[in-house]
Amino acid sequence: MVMSLVSPRRSSSIREALFQTVGGSYYHQHQKKKRTLSASSSSSSLSYEDCDDGDGTMEMVQLGAERTKNVLILMSDTGGGHRASAEAIRDAFRLEFGDEYQVFVKDVWKEYAGWPLNDMERSYKFMVKHVQLWKFAFHGSSPRWVHCVYLAAMAAFYAEFHQSVNRCYCPSEEVSKRALLDGLESNQIRVFGLPVRPSFCRAVIDKDELRKELEMDHELPAVLLMGGGEGMGPVKKTARALGAALFDEALGKPIGQMVVICGRNQILRSTLQSDQWKVPVKIRGFESQMEKWMGACDCIITKAGPGTIAEALIRGLPIILNDFIPGQEVGNIPYVVDNGAGVFSKSPKETASLVAQWFGTKRNELKRMSENALKLAQPDAVFNIVRDIDELARQCGPMTSIPYTLTSSFSYPI
Ligand code: UDP
Repeated sequence: MVMSLVSPRRSSSIREALFQTVGGSYYHQHQKKKRTLSASSSSSSLSYEDCDDGDGTMEMVQLGAERTKNVLILMSDTGGGHRASAEAIRDAFRLEFGDEYQVFVKDVWKEYAGWPLNDMERSYKFMVKHVQLWKFAFHGSSPRWVHCVYLAAMAAFYAEFHQSVNRCYCPSEEVSKRALLDGLESNQIRVFGLPVRPSFCRAVIDKDELRKELEMDHELPAVLLMGGGEGMGPVKKTARALGAALFDEALGKPIGQMVVICGRNQILRSTLQSDQWKVPVKIRGFESQMEKWMGACDCIITKAGPGTIAEALIRGLPIILNDFIPGQEVGNIPYVVDNGAGVFSKSPKETASLVAQWFGTKRNELKRMSENALKLAQPDAVFNIVRDIDELARQCGPMTSIPYTLTSSFSYPI
């Protein structure tokens, strides 16, 4: 199916801009008369009439429900986790339902907002590097303004909940308790786990094969070091400490190898690439096949990003958490540590020495943590989420009501 995407820049609200994009040119022709939006000429069409009607409900009528259904995922391309989760849902829809669903993933700020919101990626990078600034932005921002879009669209990773959603998908029981406290009813909530890309969940990966493909050492145990999609946290210092700790001076040979994934942090990557290493090291930029790198390693060091943690648990990797973004990531630390799947240390030296012990005398501890990680893993979460959305769509039938309050916070001039 080919869609004509129209420029949303001149629309009066983000809400309109989004409907315009999904609706294409048909929207333009009919918006004044009936405000009809057509998903495509070859698939289903949606119309919403009297958007601001008396009871505050925007009614969407899906015509031709037997044809392709459209799913719109709104996210913000900050870090790597939002995109990874959105892509996980998109890919799971494709695997489970083939052509029945057409999934659109949109960066709501970059594509539809004016300045400064359309510069969110850069602002986010700047703010999370300046912790106090981020704390202020995180705790001080209205949930409607920043978080509501995300929650309404697919899941609740942050501690802000919109009471009008049909469903709120919580990654853990802890989050669901918070949702209940914030006024959601239990029938609105489902706890399946964080949506992780199907490539992590379904592939049966042989470690030896992966190491061959990734040109890694076949014998030496391997540690993966990363800091989310932006390569944040004490990656550089930790890599250097590992370089020293994983080399046995007495024997004159390495006891381990490491993979450093720098994500979009080009400076980090080039700095580490210019270092001299006594142990086998792979230094990479943004990787699109994280499941392979995780599958080839024996443990991971990362900031407490939910995406990376959920993926590492599926791969059974013991986790050393060495940093966290204040606000949204702090709760992930006890989740990992209290469940025996990892430890928390902000000290690069301590972290490196622990990895050296795991690769030496404390192998049993590594094995135990790996087993605990697998117990926490929820590889089916993304499939359960899309099946539940499908069921909801079927229950709702061709008529779907979207409460106006869900989208009202999009309405500001752009
Ligand atoms: N990621 C990736 N390639 C990279 C680095 C990271 O695909 O080179 C993915 C990683 O697998 C995870 C996400 O980016 O799915 C990072 O999400 P997380 O919640 O851990 O941290 P964020 O980057 O969102 O702060």
